[in-house]
Amino acid sequence: MTTLEYLKTDAMKSEATVLECVTLEDGSIGVILDRTLFHVQGGGQPSDVGYIGEARVLKVVRSEAGVVHLVDRTIDLGPVTLSVDSGIRQLHSRLHSAGHLIGAAIETMGWHATKGSHQPGQCRVIGVKDKEEAVVPEKEAIERLVDAWIEEALEIRVTDTNGLRTVTWGDIKAYPCGGTHVQNTRELTGIKVESVKFKKGELRVAYQLADTNG
Ligand SMILES: [Zn+2]
Repeated sequence: MTTLEYLKTDAMKSEATVLECVTLEDGSIGVILDRTLFHVQGGGQPSDVGYIGEARVLKVVRSEAGVVHLVDRTIDLGPVTLSVDSGIRQLHSRLHSAGHLIGAAIETMGWHATKGSHQPGQCRVIGVKDKEEAVVPEKEAIERLVDAWIEEALEIRVTDTNGLRTVTWGDIKAYPCGGTHVQNTRELTGIKVESVKFKKGELRVAYQLADTNG
């Protein structure tokens, strides 16, 4: 079992040990570490990228074998330095955290947020009706609420109860989450709701951050 250190630290560099390095069926090279700083793809958030020693980390996924780092060359077993691309991490953390705020915003409007995708360029939050009388929210109404939370500069709040990690900022509704997040809502300035659609019983809120291409 690889220890997921990014759940406890925002460090971008650390030491780890390569336990396995194998060539997979499709020809890609997979590395298993004793511990990792690389966010594992999941929960709608893409994985981190960066370097393990000299090898470029292209993607990090969960498989039957555990947490597998897909890299561009083989690595010797033993101690190694991990280095996460901090620019990509920051972008992913911001887009993902913005999804939390949008989910919490629609929950105040009679909707229940069920899932999200925070891939740059295609961010969205999906919800279903929580109250029968709920109406499809205006883009501006969601933005107003989210902007108010950003204006309040709320600090992150992480709780861990019997292994269930929940994340939020201030008193905003908390969600169970294993992703990476911004420390303060003021880092989310510029959330732009692009569209709100209701189709086949699902509310789809598409969004991006104004200062990125995400
Ligand atoms: Zn999260």
